[in-house]
Amino acid sequence: MSRDFFFGTTSGVPNAPKPRWSADPGRMLFWPATNSRTNFDRMRLETLAVHAGHDVDPATSAVTPPIHLSTTFARETDGREHTGFLYSRYTNPNRAGLEQCLSALEAGAGATVFSSGSAATMTLMQALGPSHVILPDDAYFGSIRLAREVLGPWGMDVSTVDMRDPANVRAAMKPSTKLVWVETPSNPLLTILDIAAIAEIAHAGGAICAVDNTWGTPVLQRPLELGADVSMHSTTKYLGGHGDVLGGALIFRDGGDLYQRVVNVQMLGGAVPSPFECWLTMRGIRTLAVRVNVQTSNAAALAEFLSKHPCVEAVHYPGLASHAGHEIAKKQMKAFGGMMSVQVGASRQESMDIAGRLQLFAYATSLGGTESLIENRASVEGPSTRAPENLLRVSIGLEHIDDLKADFDQALRAAR
Ligand code: PLP
Repeated sequence: MSRDFFFGTTSGVPNAPKPRWSADPGRMLFWPATNSRTNFDRMRLETLAVHAGHDVDPATSAVTPPIHLSTTFARETDGREHTGFLYSRYTNPNRAGLEQCLSALEAGAGATVFSSGSAATMTLMQALGPSHVILPDDAYFGSIRLAREVLGPWGMDVSTVDMRDPANVRAAMKPSTKLVWVETPSNPLLTILDIAAIAEIAHAGGAICAVDNTWGTPVLQRPLELGADVSMHSTTKYLGGHGDVLGGALIFRDGGDLYQRVVNVQMLGGAVPSPFECWLTMRGIRTLAVRVNVQTSNAAALAEFLSKHPCVEAVHYPGLASHAGHEIAKKQMKAFGGMMSVQVGASRQESMDIAGRLQLFAYATSLGGTESLIENRASVEGPSTRAPENLLRVSIGLEHIDDLKADFDQALRAAR
């Protein structure tokens, strides 16, 4: 299926979208109304984040996109659709715009968005059917539990391996392996995996390679250009960016069979976001580049500061030259992101006491928002955790770096 099919229509529904054109050549009467007059292939991410997936509303001239709450769309009695929209579980204008935007950000052939990141992961795995999947041993614990506890009983055979050495992936491949899942940087240990090397191994064994790019963000890392077939996001994090909307996305390198199967599972299963959630996520994406750049420079400066602090046992941040994955991160990322983990205090409780003394870091789960957040991961992940007992995961926000450093300094010194 051609790239134009996706960019020209953006609906997640095979064969559904048939955009109607206005008298003004190059401008569509209805959404999605962008690619007709703009060549996104030539634009940079900052521009795409602001413009891709929406246009001045042709009905009202509204510059900010309207929210289309209608669950159903009128069509001719012979079944013809004027806009490509039929019923909002299949797709709707806000969702189509968001999918077009995400696809443009990572140079995909198409994207489909979900009600959460976990729903995106689950739908991809469901679309594969009973098979063998390989995940990194340090991945978001929910992804591993989902594969094992929910899909295991439906015939999914799950292996977890240390993918820092790609040879371990090769050794774990079976004839039934259909998916190699990569997460880099990883949650919560900030492990760096070599996307290009692992994708090559997956393909050689007849499997696809999907990358959880939630922590990398499209600003810093573009897995499809490194050889991955699918890039997954919890849009709840950096893309939404304000801690006020759950969502997930899959972006596909090509629009073939896998894309069609995923869309079919989603259309029938219904793990879809509402128009308002899509609208909020699109609003967040417009400032994605500026947010991620500030969060990244804050994180780099804070990691440097903490790595020299006498009260800190270890800092896990791929931007530090001492990090085991630094060279690979330099090769595949534009910069090193806004997430880090630190080991402080002699026990789980001591690390939590230090976190409790911070004034600017809310003790809360999740990440990628405007406010800095911190939490002890072992206490969240339970008995299966690989996180050291005193590991605090930190999401760096948009506060001034000097305030963040001063806050950490006072919390650490009070512990001495
Ligand atoms: N992937 C990563 C790396 C995450 O950090 C998370 C959530 O923390 C998820 C996936 C799951 O996303 P959601 O909470 O939107 O389902």
